[in-house]
Amino acid sequence: MKENMLVLEMLLKNKIITRQNIAERIDEVKRTKNSILDLLVRDRVITEAEIVLIFHNEWGFEPYDPRKDVLDRCVLPFFSKEQARKHLVFPLNQEDDDQLTVLMADPTDEETLRSVKRIADKRLKILVAEKDCIQNLIGKHYHQKYANQKSADLMKPGESNETTAEPTIITLVNDLIEEGVSRGASDIHVEAFPQKIQVRFRIDGVLKPIGLLNQETWKGVITRLKILGGCDIAEHRHPQDGAFTTTHEQRQIDVRLSIMPTIHGEKVVLRLLDEKKFLISVDDLGFSNEQKQLLQEIIEAPHGMLLVCGPTGSGKSTTLYSLLNGLDPRTQNIITIEDPVEFQMEDINQIQVNEKIGLNFASGLRAILRQDPNVIMVGEIRDEDTAEVAIRAAITGHLVLSTIHTNNAIASINRLMDMKIPLYLLSVALRGVISQKLIKRLCPNCRKKALASEAEKRLLGITDQDIELFYPVGCSLCHGTGYQGRIAVQEVLKITRRIREAIGKGEDYDTIRKVAIEEGLKPIEESLKRHLILGNTSISQGLEILTFENEWHR
Ligand SMILES: [Zn+2]
Repeated sequence: MKENMLVLEMLLKNKIITRQNIAERIDEVKRTKNSILDLLVRDRVITEAEIVLIFHNEWGFEPYDPRKDVLDRCVLPFFSKEQARKHLVFPLNQEDDDQLTVLMADPTDEETLRSVKRIADKRLKILVAEKDCIQNLIGKHYHQKYANQKSADLMKPGESNETTAEPTIITLVNDLIEEGVSRGASDIHVEAFPQKIQVRFRIDGVLKPIGLLNQETWKGVITRLKILGGCDIAEHRHPQDGAFTTTHEQRQIDVRLSIMPTIHGEKVVLRLLDEKKFLISVDDLGFSNEQKQLLQEIIEAPHGMLLVCGPTGSGKSTTLYSLLNGLDPRTQNIITIEDPVEFQMEDINQIQVNEKIGLNFASGLRAILRQDPNVIMVGEIRDEDTAEVAIRAAITGHLVLSTIHTNNAIASINRLMDMKIPLYLLSVALRGVISQKLIKRLCPNCRKKALASEAEKRLLGITDQDIELFYPVGCSLCHGTGYQGRIAVQEVLKITRRIREAIGKGEDYDTIRKVAIEEGLKPIEESLKRHLILGNTSISQGLEILTFENEWHR
């Protein structure tokens, strides 16, 4: 280990060591090729922590704080194990696309720093850490299985393959899926371009570049995925679909595979359906206590229809699965018909729509009714035929849960009226409607509280007082975005006698909404305001809901 004279000078200057301490060790240094610093630490003249402090006080490097500076395993491939060991560097995370945070034991060593910069090929944010700490991290995270595969296969353009072990495709595919699941990705995209094979994850609705694969590996990966998904491995010219199931931390992960031939090769999208995301207890779905009470009343009715509405990607299926999961499948016959079955549930009979053989929502539902069901979940009501069978099921002693693609609870009623459902049937069948939207959740680690502006207060309909709201900042936990995950904002409409009468008379949207609000409907803005005050989200995320709802009901 070579000596860093600058550090020794600073230790001397700060009177942490004496010239005597150094002089006593010169002989041993010559003999053993250890550095004086190492010997001083060994002999407990100084501690590693004191060296870190010198880098901080004299050069301004921030010390590594494991509670604050989180590790993102995706950046490990920036260095191979050998490179990390040689330069005592450990990649920690990436706040945006061009800045990599690394831990270094000695950032003042110019030569090492140059090598590290060249290998990373990124702007570096350097945190200084104890040598032992970096060695431990390297030992712990660059273990055989992960590091060799990843640094060999998920690599940056132009980087040579420094590792010697031949990667096994099976491990690489497993790692890819594991990485996606552990980062909460909903989809993994692997796409071919002339110069590169790109991997991206969709996290919280946004696609993020993750790394690159080389051409040769990619061929193996695609074959492996086709085998797992039950696809034809010899077919390269037609689109193919497949599915398989894997596990992660004892959870079931269903993977749906879609392969599409593009001009540069086959593009693969893996949709990850994580049991953790679907089996959220109703308590964790974001409902207020009052809304939970209403839901309980709706679902306890022996029969009738409960609808969940909202745009695509608003978490309607998650809410349905959570509601189903709260029922007792041992004493009730619960059957679902879905397109597609997004998540497999224990003790529940799930049917997959198959248009090719004429098994659609309506025909499937008719068949289900002959199976002595208690509870029926219909994936989506999107045509008159399905609407009618579902409504009839709801009035003949079944609890029917379904989704409908509308913007709010009242609009769902009008939508069913437009589908020519007889008003007397609709008014008797419908028990309740949940309207739901997903918005980004503020990172609880870095959000900050501040006084709301006049314009923001106007949006919330507050004019006479000052209020404080929460705003995004960005930290390593949220990759600098200020947000982590999403929350649902909802309105829960319970159909009361007065609302039922209004439906029976075929009243228009405005009239039914007026009655519903008189009957206690808390519109979705109310739920949003509750989340804003609690600091769960920011006003910029709620803007669409606030402005849209204001326009719509002006
Ligand atoms: Zn944060």
